Amino acid sequence: MGDLGRIPADVPTGLWIDNAVTPATGGATFEVRNPSTGELLTTVADAGADDALKALDSATAAQSAWAATSPRERSVILRTAWEAILDRTDDFTTLMALEMGKTVTEARGEVTYGAEFLRWFSEEAVRIQGRYAASPSGNGRILVSKVPVGPVLAITPWNFPLAMGTRKIAPALAAGCTVISKPAEDTPLTMLLLARVLADAGLPAGVLSVLPALDAAAVTGPLLADTRLRKVTFTGSTRVGKLLIEQSAQNVLKTSMELGGNAPFIVFDDANLDAAVDGAIVAKMRNAGQTCVCANRIYVANTVREEFTTRLTTRIESLEVGPAIKDSVQIGPLVNAKQRDRVAGLVADAVDDGARVRTGGHAIDGPGTFFQPTVLDDVAAGSRILREEIFGPVAVVVGFDTEDEVVAAANDTDYGLAAYLYTQSVDRAFRVSERLESGMVGVNRALVSDVAAPFGGVKQSGLGREGGTEGIEEYLETKYLAFT
Ligand code: ADP
Repeated sequence: MGDLGRIPADVPTGLWIDNAVTPATGGATFEVRNPSTGELLTTVADAGADDALKALDSATAAQSAWAATSPRERSVILRTAWEAILDRTDDFTTLMALEMGKTVTEARGEVTYGAEFLRWFSEEAVRIQGRYAASPSGNGRILVSKVPVGPVLAITPWNFPLAMGTRKIAPALAAGCTVISKPAEDTPLTMLLLARVLADAGLPAGVLSVLPALDAAAVTGPLLADTRLRKVTFTGSTRVGKLLIEQSAQNVLKTSMELGGNAPFIVFDDANLDAAVDGAIVAKMRNAGQTCVCANRIYVANTVREEFTTRLTTRIESLEVGPAIKDSVQIGPLVNAKQRDRVAGLVADAVDDGARVRTGGHAIDGPGTFFQPTVLDDVAAGSRILREEIFGPVAVVVGFDTEDEVVAAANDTDYGLAAYLYTQSVDRAFRVSERLESGMVGVNRALVSDVAAPFGGVKQSGLGREGGTEGIEEYLETKYLAFT
């Protein structure tokens, strides 16, 4: 179903509250633009504080009835929505290509991956377990059960408009929580269509609201200050994550934070170089470099560095750059001019510090907010581009001599989300992956995301895990009943 390239007619462009499209209080709207062309796609309602409280009223009113539904009932709704999203693959692909600039191939992949969280958590909904134990003293029984946390605020970024939503919304709903979603201002349409699909799949009114807003804090501030809200789950920058943790302290909210990364991608001299180059392309260039698990620093053993870099450069030069909706395009635009200019600044600073540009290096003149796929070599230690998350199609190659040296360099960051290593030695694979301070390690593999695996980071990359059997725990409280 669907018509690739045309915005589906039933995408809500208002706020989504009580399973209905609602204008913002005062009628405010904001523009959604296509980063491939700069063209206006549509305008959507711009939520403010009053709308936020209206959504919280609705979520609070729905909470106890939703928590009381049977796990099977929740499971069936999630599974029905999973099928409905797949039936509408072209529609969701179109929305993500147009509002975010994700290539058609990758957008299709995200539809499958994003929808899969609904199927996975439809299966987890009916497997929420407690336990029973006898007290060691012999005079009591310990019953441990799991109960839903309560109304959840889910704040999501623009880089995976569908999957970052479903990775939070599906486990929250499966656990019996109501959800208020605040999608990124660049990409509200995908989330709004998801809300409609879930409502059509049988989700009762009030269980999910969607509040697009240009000024995120105007919506999230009043919600975080209200004691009826019980949890905030966030994916985005470490800077905003820290602000939200601070605000969550007020009411001691449970928090899940999936924050920034600075992933090292390590190629040892015994690696299969073909596989390592393939992996580097995927880990670096996916979503035009705009993922929190993108390879930010590519460390290559000096004995194979020139050969690796030459091959990588040739491959990167051959990538087709263009409007995301064109089928053959491999690298779309960056999401907006601010991101493009930030990437340009990082590259310019690295070059000032002495880096060599092997290919690319510059923003591409508009229309659209494109940056040339770039390879930098001989990057000076201490360069800003090695410390900050690049979030663009820029591969940064750094040489190393010893295992100890590269492990120390890889860990020399405040982040700890993903890391990658390529080696044909099993001993080294275990040894190095155990020494890397990172929530996830890809071993001879550049794609770590999997609905069945716990996604998340250590250090300033975050708190909690999404997906896997761990993912639903973030939305459950542990309750202990003491029996005689
Ligand atoms: P990015 O830099 O990738 O855009 P952000 O952390 O700025 O990441 O944004 C991620 C999400 O957080 C978006 O939905 C955005 O609207 C929201 N956001 C940004 N600033 C704030 C804030 N001060 N309070 C709450 N949410 C925010």
